[in-house]
Amino acid sequence: PVRVRMAPSPTGSPHVGLVRTALYNWAFARHHQRHGAGGTFVFRIEDTDKERSTAESYAAIIDLMRWLGMEWDEGPEVGGPYAPYKQSEREDLYREVLAKLRESRFGYECYCTNAEVEERRKASGSKVMGYDGYCRNLTADQVAVFEAEGRSHITRFRMPDGKITWNDLVRGEITFETEFVPDYALCRANGDPLYTLVNPVDDALMDITHVLRGEDLLSSTPRQVALYGALIELGVTDFVPEFGHLPYVMGEGNKKLSKRDPEAHALAYRDQGFLPEGLLNYLALLGWAIAADRDVFTLDEMVDAFEIGDVNPNPARFDLKKCEAINASHMRLLSLEDMTHRVLPYLKDAGVVGDPVHDSDAQLLELAMPLVAERINKLTEAAGMLGFLFVAEDDFSVDPADAEKMLGEDGRPVVQAAYDALAGLHAWSTSDIQEALQTALVDGLGLKPRVAFGPVRVAVTGRRVSPPLFESLELLGRERSLGRLQRALG
Ligand code: GLU
Repeated sequence: PVRVRMAPSPTGSPHVGLVRTALYNWAFARHHQRHGAGGTFVFRIEDTDKERSTAESYAAIIDLMRWLGMEWDEGPEVGGPYAPYKQSEREDLYREVLAKLRESRFGYECYCTNAEVEERRKASGSKVMGYDGYCRNLTADQVAVFEAEGRSHITRFRMPDGKITWNDLVRGEITFETEFVPDYALCRANGDPLYTLVNPVDDALMDITHVLRGEDLLSSTPRQVALYGALIELGVTDFVPEFGHLPYVMGEGNKKLSKRDPEAHALAYRDQGFLPEGLLNYLALLGWAIAADRDVFTLDEMVDAFEIGDVNPNPARFDLKKCEAINASHMRLLSLEDMTHRVLPYLKDAGVVGDPVHDSDAQLLELAMPLVAERINKLTEAAGMLGFLFVAEDDFSVDPADAEKMLGEDGRPVVQAAYDALAGLHAWSTSDIQEALQTALVDGLGLKPRVAFGPVRVAVTGRRVSPPLFESLELLGRERSLGRLQRALG
């Protein structure tokens, strides 16, 4: 059975890159659950950096995962056999491993200051950044001198000589010469374990079999593979996981998508009314394809098809337009009932309906949703389109820019003719309304349909973009429709 994890650091607002990584891990686990020997998707919170980690960011990540519907088998809020799943609650475990490393040949105490290391590097003209191994083989006398000077020390990991090689699941064989991978710090001078230690130690203690994560972490992998060697010898674990580094996500101008890019913020998609399945489908495409000629698929289809070996190592380009188009395709796949259900929270947020929803509003919504279901590409768009039906007459207003364009000199006679035609109607059905307006405006005034119906639309819906006009008038009802036409006439 495979065990994979997502391991976000709760700093700042969660990024779409995190979602892509979570999705690939999730799909990998679910695929193995369905077609292999089993798969577990672990969620771990990497809050070792106490200064940068925040409770808001943690809450946002949990919120995001819940909205996306990506369920985790073990992790925060749900627990599991490897609990706890927050690094801030695992310090004792790290200290235990750190003590083992310190007592073995794999760790050594280093008394150097950064300034000394940098000075030596400059003097030697070395191009290798980082530590030069100065304290690797201190004698007892040298240690005594450092201690007498009152120097503090940290523990460093002793990188082995030679090469570190692994067969990356995405990028193929990767080799680092360890002379370019300096010995690294495992803890601070006060003994606090550092991220460089706790991230691989957690993967080891949690029996993670496949580490699938962003390419930005590739350069830390040789250090981790080396550390695994030590952890195996010290009996902390008995295997090295496989690694797969997922491609970079590029934004505008072919630069890495960064937190500064507005489209990087994952929860903004929820706020803008994207469907979780639409966003996930789009993010799945940033490095993977279900077939050469197919962009739209369900998560279930992804789970069936997902193979980590199919992930493309080349950078992927984030394209908001395409993301919107994919979302729109998923909107078209929703049943009317499902769409109504999903639109409802947005209508409440926009104040279009109350919370709880009044019975009469619920009935009206059921009648109105068919008018907009095919026309909205995001859930938020329903509020703007349907608001005119739910608003109290006293609060109804026409968009000023639309009023200026459509209800001026040219518009007034059209609205007047529409009013006269509709006021004389006995029945109030879509087809009656259509016939009356057609006769009065197109035949009577000799206007093209577009020109004829625009002012009427603005007068009764308050905007130039609305659901189909005749159906809208029917739903709005005779009294309210005539009242609004009259109001437009001043
Ligand atoms: N906590 C790391 C991050 O948020 C992830 C580390 C990993 O996946 O190994 O970038």
